[in-house]
Amino acid sequence: MPVAKTNKRDYYEVLGIKKDATPEDIKKSFRELAKKWHPDKNLDNKKEAEEKFKEIAEAYSVLSDEQKRRQYDQFGHDGMQGMGGPDFSGVSVEDIFSSFFGGRGGGASGSIFDDLFGGADGRYAGAGQGASLRYEMEIDLEESAKGVKKTVEISRDELCETCNGNGAKPGTKPAPCNYCRGQGYVARSQGFFTMKTACPRCGGRGETIESPCATCRGSGRKRKKIRLEVPIPAGIESGTRVRLSGEGEPGEHGGPRGDLYVFVRVREHEYFVRRSRDLLIEMPVPFTMAALGGDIEVPTLEGRVKLPVPKSTQSGQLLRLRGLGMPDVHGYGKGDLFVRVVVETPQKLTTEQEELLRKLAALEKVNVKPHSSKSFIDKLKDFFGEE
Ligand SMILES: [Zn+2]
Ligand SMILES: [Zn+2]
Repeated sequence: MPVAKTNKRDYYEVLGIKKDATPEDIKKSFRELAKKWHPDKNLDNKKEAEEKFKEIAEAYSVLSDEQKRRQYDQFGHDGMQGMGGPDFSGVSVEDIFSSFFGGRGGGASGSIFDDLFGGADGRYAGAGQGASLRYEMEIDLEESAKGVKKTVEISRDELCETCNGNGAKPGTKPAPCNYCRGQGYVARSQGFFTMKTACPRCGGRGETIESPCATCRGSGRKRKKIRLEVPIPAGIESGTRVRLSGEGEPGEHGGPRGDLYVFVRVREHEYFVRRSRDLLIEMPVPFTMAALGGDIEVPTLEGRVKLPVPKSTQSGQLLRLRGLGMPDVHGYGKGDLFVRVVVETPQKLTTEQEELLRKLAALEKVNVKPHSSKSFIDKLKDFFGEE
């Protein structure tokens, strides 16, 4: 066997298979690797993935072909080059896909692509799913607590009513494209390797329209404003998206519609702070009540409730009201409402209150300021002899 003059890796090594691998082994390994290294699945290192993907595709294009495989087994990479072997360096990943898995219009359902990617990506499949739409919405905390139905208005393509979406004038029909003979793709040879690309005449549809529908000018679609009701589940958290399946753009060539994603932002509340299922609120409590105990009224999302403040409550202490938080979005019960006590020191004291506090201070042996703590203004008044 001549020594390979290229730095190309061994095709068997690339696909991670043995020399005596069966066609099934080769196919299986290729599917796994192509799935793993498809650039759309490797957005972080797209460049590297693209190189890998091409390497895998090249190895597969040779080893999956009995004749080419024999040639490669005999002469290695040199043998392939002599024959004008496959070279994917200037070819897009998309083109490689169409060559393996059929062009846009020619891709039969059940192709290897559907196996690989579940047919979800409309860019390569024949009857591709339509594009998804995005809508952003803001709701109140109260709405999130109870769940709400919101009506949204979106612009999207609807099938043209005049031609039922086929683009042809009523009474006429689209005819098979005579450039590609209705295949939707054209094959061109690159030395050793045959490429299939979307037909330039019909754009991969496989058919042409002689007399276009006047309403949609042959596109088969019409932009429309659509009103939709979006059910927002109770307990939804800010930043969550609600998916309305099949409410996006229509698919290519009769493919299914894409989805509509509604991104929900929950507005900040004036009093309540949300932490997942729990709510937090700060409540002022007079220092006497904090010391002696008592009841306060606390606002909740379900109206006011009475909350007992235990004796000797400290400032910053959390009191819990069970089950008065937010509902779980999956229906697993409700969170709690936590009340953070902020002990308030009185701003003004009557003479009597001050006397009582001084007695308390004396009792506790607290070294407080002397009695004549007159304010600066009072002292000024004294100075000028005013009353
Ligand atoms: Zn039309
Ligand atoms: Zn065509």
